[in-house]
Amino acid sequence: MTETVERFIRQLVEPEYLLQNEPMAKHTTFRVGGAADMFIRIQSMEQLIKLAAYFEQLHQPYLVVGNGSNLLVSDRGYRGVVLQIGDGMSSMTVDGEFMRVQAGALLSSAAAQAAQHSLSGLEFAAGIPGSVGGAVVMNAGAYDGEMSQIIENVTVLNEQGGQMVLDRDTMEFGYRTSIIRNRPFIVLEALLHLRKGDAGEIRARMDDLNARRRAKQPLEFASAGSTFKRPEGYFAGKLIMDAGLRGYRIGGAQVSEKHCGFIINVGNASAQDIYELIEEVQEKVKERFHVELEPEVIRIGDFL
Ligand SMILES: Cc1cc2nc3c(=O)[nH]c(=O)nc-3n(C[C@H](O)[C@H](O)[C@H](O)COP(=O)(O)OP(=O)(O)OC[C@H]3O[C@@H](n4cnc5c(N)ncnc54)[C@H](O)[C@@H]3O)c2cc1C
Repeated sequence: MTETVERFIRQLVEPEYLLQNEPMAKHTTFRVGGAADMFIRIQSMEQLIKLAAYFEQLHQPYLVVGNGSNLLVSDRGYRGVVLQIGDGMSSMTVDGEFMRVQAGALLSSAAAQAAQHSLSGLEFAAGIPGSVGGAVVMNAGAYDGEMSQIIENVTVLNEQGGQMVLDRDTMEFGYRTSIIRNRPFIVLEALLHLRKGDAGEIRARMDDLNARRRAKQPLEFASAGSTFKRPEGYFAGKLIMDAGLRGYRIGGAQVSEKHCGFIINVGNASAQDIYELIEEVQEKVKERFHVELEPEVIRIGDFL
């Protein structure tokens, strides 16, 4: 990074929000990942817009992250600037059946806010540990619900620094994907269309889904949730179990015994351990059942 870029950043970002050589292991739910050259905790939308426009203009590599709950960052880290969209951009406003939520709000907070206003539709999301921005990008979903069902529109920043409002039909939502997986857009906020419901019933449904998660998922270990997408006509976890891989381990990375669809960090995994285990699981399942498992987890940086 040039001195000019660094100076620009320092003018815009207060020192406590600016971290140098920051281990990404601290910012991912897998708890692995080497250092990012610079890590900025975004304080406001205006600040994000200025930084992104400047980086685009200077071709300065940068990576936008939310809560890091779907990321596998290499042990070598990230050469460039990581922009973390979290608390500093997490406001929510409710107007009738509509809720406007900034990208950095946690899905769990958005779900709680919806319940407080007796709004139904976000129950499925209460236990997904991502930000609203990350959930829009990934079209996060669970228990028959997914973001595409409740999105009215999404405000994004494009690579020219312009803001665009993309309605649901232009978001190209698919299974765990959206247009933003293929275009360099940054999610600024989303307008959700929910339905009036009963606050008690909404909370009960969230409690029930969270209890089901605790019963079925290895939440006591670091992970990024389901490692693989569900292949059509199959369940990834069942294929992995039937391939004899339950509990299979490389270094500190293990196929969860509780739910074979999760690769977990059992203590001191490296990102490389997890990467290799993903590859090995893919190979074994392909060999045995001729099914290609596609990772849901997003890999960042270089692996061996
Ligand atoms: C225990 C556990 C359970 C999980 N359960 C589920 C589940 O039930 N359903 C499900 O779908 N997922 C699940 N996940 C995965 C994960 O929580 C979701 O994919 C979530 O939506 C990711 O959000 P995030 O903010 O953590 O995104 P990150 O992991 O930080 O980023 C994901 C991707 O989005 C990009 N991104 C993030 N924010 C923005 C933004 N504002 N603008 C542009 N790009 C952005 C990043 O560059 C990256 O490509 C689970 C994960 C864990 C650890």
